[in-house]
Amino acid sequence: MANEDILDLFIIGGGINGCGIARDAAGRGLRVGLAEMNDLASATSSASTKLFHGGLRYLEYFEVRLVREALIERETLLRAMPHISWPMRFVLPYHRDMRFEGETPISKLLNIFMPWMKGRRPAWLIRLGLFLYDHLGGRKILPGTTTVNLKQDPVGMPLQDRFEKAYEYSDCWIEDSRLVVLNARDAQARGAQIMTRTKVLSAERDGDLWKITLQDVASGREFTHHAKMLINAGGPWVEDVIRNTARINSSEGVRLVRGSHIVTRKLFDHDKCYFFQGEDGRIIFAIPYETDFTLIGTTDAEHDDPSTKPVCTEEESNYLLNFASQYFKQPVTKDDIVWTYSGVRPLYDDGATSATAATRDYVLKVNQDGGAPMLNVFGGKITTYRKLAEHALEKIVPFFPGTSGSWTAGVALPGGDFPVGGTDDLITKLKADYAFLDDFWAHRLIKAYGTLAAEVLGQAKSLEDMGQVFGASLTEREILWLMKNEYARTAQDVVWRRSKLGLRLTAEQIETLDIFMQANMAQDALQAATEQA
Ligand SMILES: Cc1cc2nc3c(=O)[nH]c(=O)nc-3n(C[C@H](O)[C@H](O)[C@H](O)COP(=O)(O)OP(=O)(O)OC[C@H]3O[C@@H](n4cnc5c(N)ncnc54)[C@H](O)[C@@H]3O)c2cc1C
Repeated sequence: MANEDILDLFIIGGGINGCGIARDAAGRGLRVGLAEMNDLASATSSASTKLFHGGLRYLEYFEVRLVREALIERETLLRAMPHISWPMRFVLPYHRDMRFEGETPISKLLNIFMPWMKGRRPAWLIRLGLFLYDHLGGRKILPGTTTVNLKQDPVGMPLQDRFEKAYEYSDCWIEDSRLVVLNARDAQARGAQIMTRTKVLSAERDGDLWKITLQDVASGREFTHHAKMLINAGGPWVEDVIRNTARINSSEGVRLVRGSHIVTRKLFDHDKCYFFQGEDGRIIFAIPYETDFTLIGTTDAEHDDPSTKPVCTEEESNYLLNFASQYFKQPVTKDDIVWTYSGVRPLYDDGATSATAATRDYVLKVNQDGGAPMLNVFGGKITTYRKLAEHALEKIVPFFPGTSGSWTAGVALPGGDFPVGGTDDLITKLKADYAFLDDFWAHRLIKAYGTLAAEVLGQAKSLEDMGQVFGASLTEREILWLMKNEYARTAQDVVWRRSKLGLRLTAEQIETLDIFMQANMAQDALQAATEQA
């Protein structure tokens, strides 16, 4: 086999961790291949709460390393992608009946030293947690914690009268599935080969190499690649890949914990989020979402099999409705729900007794039993994906002497090469250059594509130049751009992962879009076959 046919790394999984590692490694000059069996971000990485956050509640588990890394990372990431990420303020209403989960180390300590609290979270402890949150991460852009009088501040208006005081702190929003596709695009621009809808059937050691057998899911065609190192970023399938794809005996395990969200009609009229604490020790967020909606989540439920599609059960949606209704004046009901989604956290199995208590930190393990090395990725957060990739590269580089050092901090993702807070200027300019855009459309394009929005619109001078209109400002020109540049193949890819226009389009409109995309792909395939003949 010619040396140029051998890849350095073969990555299994096109979620945030696989794509983050691919980008970092390709940027260091390694030859990278990545296979994703479905669409990019089709599993956990499009089903998160969509926060770049330190994870305030993890402080109660003394996960200080993880919280500190994530807090520092928020601003690094924000600067690299100010189109798909933005700062948000979180309002945490205080009430004396809020309780800890009984299992947290901090609640155990408090039960010893302050037994009369009977598991309640005292206000001073929340303030202490927020003080640490403000200072562990070296903020420059994000404002610190303040105290809010809910009787006077507009954020108190939608809440029940029993809430008088709140704390307000900062974290960031992130469009999770767009983050994945932008990492994949950038990896490809730096030389990586990104193969979507390509399943890794098997990986076997062949001397110093891995022989990887793949299947094009659409055609069923099988083919092989050889690589010097295998990276298993299979998320919920990480254990399945170890045991069944690479057939390795390993004691490492993953704990699958499902989390569900409900999306409701808009429940309040400001741009801040709520952080609600329950009497069961859990917390949920209520977040302004896609201008006209509210996002509420999440739950923690054990999930047995990665291949069982996670769905928000009636029990989970009732739990979220009841939880939120303990805070809002107007109860949130089933009729308010417009969409639900669910994902599976691939947590490293650290033997914790409850799903809520299992560690959220990531664990990277190299396996070198009898030949070519394999790196297995367990856990991880959207927030720590770039640091996880850097740490993964620390483990990879020793196998590739001469590889350059870390580089991703401060390097913009595609479309993110403008200052934090600069989206309004970009929107104004886009509207001036393309007079047919309305506010919603211009805003949506800048928040999705940043400085590349004009590339999507191209030479269009009028709405007619945008081609077929599918509804909610989605047009043929944008679809063709997404198919060419962002690996979109089906309507589902477009309306739920490249955008969230599924919230606005009817089932018939989505069907029309799908027919258009399938016809377009068939035409491309025919053209390619004719050219080959
Ligand atoms: C409910 C919920 C809320 C969350 N909220 C947040 C949050 O607000 N902030 C935050 O920072 N983190 C959050 N997280 C965590 C974060 O979403 C995950 O840690 C992260 O998305 C995991 O990414 P991944 O790449 O490891 O896995 P995935 O995104 O699941 O990617 C793994 C991919 O591997 C592919 N694959 C598997 N086997 C094969 C094979 N044989 N061949 C080819 N492809 C294969 C799968 O199809 C899948 O796409 C949340 C998680 C959940 C579930």
